[in-house]
Amino acid sequence: MIIILKPEITQESPEFKFLLKYLNEFKGVKTLTAEYQGETRKVIEIHLIGDTQKVPLEIVKSLPGVEKAVRVSAKYRQIGRHGDLEPIGFDYKGLHFDQNSFHVFMGLCAADTKENVEAIFKAMKEAGVRTARMGAYKPRTSPYDFQGHGKECLPWLFELAGKYDIAIIAMEVLSPHHIDEIWEALEKAGHPTGVMLQIGTRNAQNFELLKAVGNQQEFPVLYKRGMGLTIDESLNACEYIASEGNHNIIFCLRGVRTHLGDPHRNLVDFGHVPVIKRLTRLPVCVDPSHPIGSRVAAPDGIKDIYHVAAQGVIAGANMVLVEFHPDPHRALCDGPQALFLEEIPCFLDYINRARQAYLDMKDIVARCNFQNIVPKP
Ligand code: PEP
Ligand code: MN
Repeated sequence: MIIILKPEITQESPEFKFLLKYLNEFKGVKTLTAEYQGETRKVIEIHLIGDTQKVPLEIVKSLPGVEKAVRVSAKYRQIGRHGDLEPIGFDYKGLHFDQNSFHVFMGLCAADTKENVEAIFKAMKEAGVRTARMGAYKPRTSPYDFQGHGKECLPWLFELAGKYDIAIIAMEVLSPHHIDEIWEALEKAGHPTGVMLQIGTRNAQNFELLKAVGNQQEFPVLYKRGMGLTIDESLNACEYIASEGNHNIIFCLRGVRTHLGDPHRNLVDFGHVPVIKRLTRLPVCVDPSHPIGSRVAAPDGIKDIYHVAAQGVIAGANMVLVEFHPDPHRALCDGPQALFLEEIPCFLDYINRARQAYLDMKDIVARCNFQNIVPKP
């Protein structure tokens, strides 16, 4: 069961305290409180877990401070839509993320040199982009490949982010202690930027790591679909994060592993954007760099990375995560798929037009109003 409180109720209100006292009297029922910052209001939800059948829905609905209460199916209890639950989303570093928002996160696959990081942040500032991607801890197939500079690069990376007004960096973590290292480095630097913790495809079912990113409220989480996992398995992994208390999650599609995707690196799965939006309340991201794996262009002159990025955006994606590099031939990780810095304005123009096309198409479909047509008996 999920109980949504009236807008004026806070966790200090007597109604909230009374409600928790009432709910705690049911043996075998655990309560978990979640706060969402929507664009216009803050929403507090109380999630009941365990033997909730004995909690009477109608009585709960009538208690002071309660706006709405719904019984939820066993599936995706925390992240699911459950009928008419509002996908509120969350705020982080002054930016809002929900199923209607749109952001482009761009940057290096891995922070390699100070010069390269500065070059991309500078180009982003010129283009008005404040959301970056940058790996410090890299999961590599070979132990002999560049593993990322780890915590050593965090001080200069955060300082440069502050210098160029980068609000958020999406950064992969491979182990729970990386979260502490990021937090300590941000504290030392005086929080010049924010971090979105990325769970990479290779850790998509690393349950201890999922619990660790779920068990903190400071950083939102960008969860990347497991390359060999079903949607159901990946959504359950997000449920691990949410059930630990952190609901600020973005679900990222990044292609799946199959030779049927050849010659692309992975098979593009952006047709699942509307599926994730229908099944969950999570904003959806698409990563066009990793499924394609190279800068090849079609005969129309448009690179495959651009083509699939637009496909994801046309399908309603709320975020694009894309790799650039000032000197891709010398990049220590994923150089072949990195776009050139000179392309940034063009890529943004292209992607923003795809977004506008999606919004226009949404209006057209709303005007057609064919949702109300029912099959003839
Ligand atoms: C990345 O974003 O650099 C990355 C390693 O992605 P994935 O986990 O999707 O391979
Ligand atoms: Mn990469």
